[in-house]
Amino acid sequence: MCPVSSDCLFCSIVLRSVPATIVHETDSVLAFRDINPQAPTHVLVIPKAHHSDAASMATTDPALAGRVLDVAGQVAAADGVDAAGYRLVFNTGKDGQQTVFHAHCHVLGGRGMEWPPG
Ligand code: 5GP
Ligand code: ZN
Repeated sequence: MCPVSSDCLFCSIVLRSVPATIVHETDSVLAFRDINPQAPTHVLVIPKAHHSDAASMATTDPALAGRVLDVAGQVAAADGVDAAGYRLVFNTGKDGQQTVFHAHCHVLGGRGMEWPPG
């Protein structure tokens, strides 16, 4: 882990050098709308500190992983999708279709989800 990584897209969003539609912020967590939404609600919740994926974040700083999950629930409630239900996803690694290697939780809601995902 390092505080920020100069070549990381989501670190750049934390630093405000790349714009994003921010919906929630704490001292350690940022939530912003996905640029290519896959559902009516599609928000990414990230730790401000750079961790390459969710597992390494949870190992290095389990309290931070808990705060990411807490904010994910708050985002779902703020978007009004908590009553109907929603999905939290941490894509991890190549087979998990992770494309941005800064840990992030997808909050997806506002439509019925399929299982298993494709
Ligand atoms: P992953 O595939 O790594 O699990 O998810 C990365 C997500 O980041 C994708 O859903 C993608 O649409 C989103 N994304 C990629 N570039 C940007 C960006 O510049 N801004 C925002 N807000 N989302 C982005
Ligand atoms: Zn980063």
